[in-house]
Amino acid sequence: MLDLPRPFLFSGNGGGVIEGNTTEAMICTLIAARERVLRRLGHNSITKLVVYGSDQTHCSFQKAARVVGIDPQNIRALKTMQSTLFGLSPDLLRNAIRSDINVGLIPLYLCATVGTTSVTAVDPLEPLCKVASEFGMWVHVDAAYAGSSCICPEYRKFLDGVEFADSFSFNAHKWLLTSLDCCCLWVKDPNALVKSLSTDPEYLKNEATESKQVVDYKDWQLSLSRRFRALKLWLVLRMYGVDNLRSHIRNDCRLAQLFEELVAKDDRFEVFFPRNFALVCFRILPSAVASMASGHAVENEHGEAWELNDVNKLNAQLLHAINASGRVFMTHTVVGGVYVLRFAVGAILVRERHVIMAWKLVQERANSLLSMSGSNTPHA
Ligand code: PLP
Repeated sequence: MLDLPRPFLFSGNGGGVIEGNTTEAMICTLIAARERVLRRLGHNSITKLVVYGSDQTHCSFQKAARVVGIDPQNIRALKTMQSTLFGLSPDLLRNAIRSDINVGLIPLYLCATVGTTSVTAVDPLEPLCKVASEFGMWVHVDAAYAGSSCICPEYRKFLDGVEFADSFSFNAHKWLLTSLDCCCLWVKDPNALVKSLSTDPEYLKNEATESKQVVDYKDWQLSLSRRFRALKLWLVLRMYGVDNLRSHIRNDCRLAQLFEELVAKDDRFEVFFPRNFALVCFRILPSAVASMASGHAVENEHGEAWELNDVNKLNAQLLHAINASGRVFMTHTVVGGVYVLRFAVGAILVRERHVIMAWKLVQERANSLLSMSGSNTPHA
């Protein structure tokens, strides 16, 4: 369904495993990468290992890196910019790796993201993998949320370049109608996992394992015991079928697009980040806020001076007012210092009328907030 490159499949000498969540997938692949290097350089080198992500990489990566013993000072969160759609820059990565090598550190692992949590940014996989391969690093592609959409041929492009990565994971429990928890992880080199995670006590010896005809998933994960997660995923696939799962994704994206269009029509608002999937990031524009007396003037990356604090505060109040209605629930993020509201479509019962109702609610709440702050005329 994902059209994954053959080297990730068992038939191509790779393989897949269902972990509980992305954090576990990161921990297991980090351990595999770590052991591959430390076997060569000796365990004492652990303090020199460096891992890389961007400032948009999910915080679970920081946690996973700490869990596997990476010095917290060696966890890089490279800066992204709105002008490059919050994707990680391959040049920035190369420069960071070079400076680390210059002071005797060892680049180990890059976590690239397809569909970041804040705004669903997509890191440029192929160029990033090329940089990482110059330095012999492991690349993991985290598509926790957006991976599900790649079952649709028109969204598969977001995985272009995954063929150059070492591992890839997505959470079927996020957007593929599967209940928590269900993270699908594929690796090109299962041996790297097995060598670093296998145990072989007497009480687990059995003929099937000895025959080497079975996959011992205990060696692909942290714990010994496993939940039968494949069953529920299999049921989802059998019950809906590929076509219906694709329709589910497309429908959510279409509804998100409708919301995006409604936002774009109201000149007091902006769509902060061009929508990739079923998440719309939007906010009230600074220009719509007439009174911004208490804010500190700041410059955005285009050199425009504006009052960030008050605009951010107003948008935070808007979110609070929307959620206090009890009719819809939205979330927020702050990217590049900018507070934005996040409207995500994901539940199967959402229909067009709900999206329109949600947008009307946003406008109503914005009307009253803006009139209180003495700003532009309220919109109908
Ligand atoms: N990566 C991304 C891009 C996510 O959006 C999330 C969760 O929101 C995670 C990782 C963390 O996933 P998990 O809770 O499965 O560890």
